[in-house]
Amino acid sequence: MTLPKHAFFKGQIVPYADARVGVLTHGLNYGTAAFGGLRGYWIEDEEELLVFRPLDHFHRFLQSARLLMMELPYSKEDLAGSLRKLLQAEGLRKDCYVRPLAYYSDEMIGVRLHDLHAEVSMVAVPYGNYLSKEDGLHVGVSSWRRVDDNVIPARGKIAGSYVNSALAKTEAILGGFDEALMLNADGHLCEASAANVFVVRDGVVLTPPVTDNILEGITRRSLMVLLKDELGHPVVERPIDRTELYLAEEVFLAGTGVQIGAIGRIDHRQVGNGKIGPITSTLRDLYYKVVRGKVPKYRSWCAPIYRDR
Ligand code: PMP
Repeated sequence: MTLPKHAFFKGQIVPYADARVGVLTHGLNYGTAAFGGLRGYWIEDEEELLVFRPLDHFHRFLQSARLLMMELPYSKEDLAGSLRKLLQAEGLRKDCYVRPLAYYSDEMIGVRLHDLHAEVSMVAVPYGNYLSKEDGLHVGVSSWRRVDDNVIPARGKIAGSYVNSALAKTEAILGGFDEALMLNADGHLCEASAANVFVVRDGVVLTPPVTDNILEGITRRSLMVLLKDELGHPVVERPIDRTELYLAEEVFLAGTGVQIGAIGRIDHRQVGNGKIGPITSTLRDLYYKVVRGKVPKYRSWCAPIYRDR
């Protein structure tokens, strides 16, 4: 991965090499940090970089920080403004990924959330596809259970809880799968290591509810609107059993990184035609147009970086 040239660090845009923390940093030792993940799309014919739903991403970022009792001196608008400055400094003319991080910066020993100081950093890096393939993914149901709301809340992007995702992802990859699907302690489907999941059964699009230990995904929410309003498939949010995955016509992953990843096999069982189903395929075509600002109705989801808003 190419390292960024700049970082937003302690309230300023600085050379990336100057954005450093000490090894005693609280967030590094105890996972007491929250992060975000946004995508910027380079639009060649407009010579413009469009960031997808930055205010929604920063809203969730601030909510994740709030779960850790962080007091940050920024609004979501402030963060979107800092991101704009950072991207302008970086001057990227290609698709990119943005990583905001809020972390307890105190250099001390002692696990807790109170009486600590939080800082925010942000970097942007060129970025293509997240998964090695986007169609016909073979996923395995993980032996690792998803963190519960009363263990570490999965609804926010909390750094420490990504150990749970990493355990599942590595188990899946070393076991020959492309990705993992995780279940709750009660056996219901949650999500993949870094993406939400949708299931089509008997023509109905299903997705786990936000009370089933999932990240409240921005892509998930966007796709629910597109499925209902543009494709005529209102999404039903309900608990999903593991074996419903084996009977589904289509299953796909959704997230900023993966975008839309069509699952072709689950636990060695073929899903649909093994590549991509009709709803997933139509939805993906639409989503790619939407994120690149090509659908006027949803253009407001795309924030231009180089030109005046
Ligand atoms: N679930 C998890 C665990 C994730 O890490 C991500 C990626 N942020 C998602 C779902 C998808 O969320 P979003 O659409 O907001 O990127």
